[in-house]
Amino acid sequence: MPLATLTALFPKQLGRRVLTSGGIYALARRRVLRGDPVTVLMYHTLGPDDEQFDAWTVVRRSDFIAQMQWLRLHYDIVSLDEAVAHVRGSTYSARPKVVVTFDDGHTGLYRYLLPLLDGLRLPVTIYVATGHIANGRPYWFDRVMNALQVCQAVTLELSCYGLESFVVPTGSGPVRWQLLGTLLQALKGLGPEQREVAADDVVRQLQPYRRSDFEPLAPLSIEQLRQLSRSPWVTLGAHTDCHNLLDQISIDDALASMVLSARRLREWTGRDIVHFAYPNGNHNRALMECARSVGFQTALTTRKGLWRRGDPFFAIGRIPVGRYDDLTRFKLNLLGSPWRH
Ligand SMILES: [Zn+2]
Repeated sequence: MPLATLTALFPKQLGRRVLTSGGIYALARRRVLRGDPVTVLMYHTLGPDDEQFDAWTVVRRSDFIAQMQWLRLHYDIVSLDEAVAHVRGSTYSARPKVVVTFDDGHTGLYRYLLPLLDGLRLPVTIYVATGHIANGRPYWFDRVMNALQVCQAVTLELSCYGLESFVVPTGSGPVRWQLLGTLLQALKGLGPEQREVAADDVVRQLQPYRRSDFEPLAPLSIEQLRQLSRSPWVTLGAHTDCHNLLDQISIDDALASMVLSARRLREWTGRDIVHFAYPNGNHNRALMECARSVGFQTALTTRKGLWRRGDPFFAIGRIPVGRYDDLTRFKLNLLGSPWRH
């Protein structure tokens, strides 16, 4: 029976619990892992356990540890280079392989991830968008996420950008995040310059209502990045310099941003940079060719899926993991579950 049909038979919560316990899950996992694909997880950053930062991108430290400990029991956690060799090779492994990646380059990686790596013996790949690290200013998305941590509901007026007004709710959790996602999606639909203006406007309108009891999302400093790069567990990858959605800018600008991010990472860390991730996953055939011409060996997207033999190396899918994925949801996500937040 196809997995989608099986899952449709159960109410959501009951279905999740039943599907992640015992034999049914093992069966579904075996089916998904047929052909020995590599599972590539996509995180963004980690945060403290006791903080009410309501953003999908910030995973609690203890949730992350629990996820890695569960993975250890069922997968080999490998570096991206090991995964490349595995996909290129002709041998099949006894245990499935998983790669752990982080996008963007936030301070949480230095504060909460780096101290865990030795103890967990955990290889990770960190894709760094170099522009915000060079100038210390968070990208628009992070500025907006910081601003959305409000102490009372606020109505945003966005008509001058051709957008509907938007009520920012208080509270936290996946339902609120889903709602905020509609605002973020609307902002992503604007061109890069107008989006920057709109993001600053959102920050300005929410400023009087902003909470201060959390660590705002902020870019790594160059020194923090250097210290991460010295860990034998860390592979660094480029993620452009501008972090613009590459299909919204000219191909020449996209190419220049790819080249600049790899160059800056080499200059700052002395490490070789051969892996790349498209900001927001936006890519097309021309951008895939661009990434190849820069000399990258792989390019990762945000398309939800496993990396199967024969897939193009410049459009590799991933499994996203966020703050609202408890261990049950995490296990289901690994199957490529149709359930989303
Ligand atoms: Zn990104």
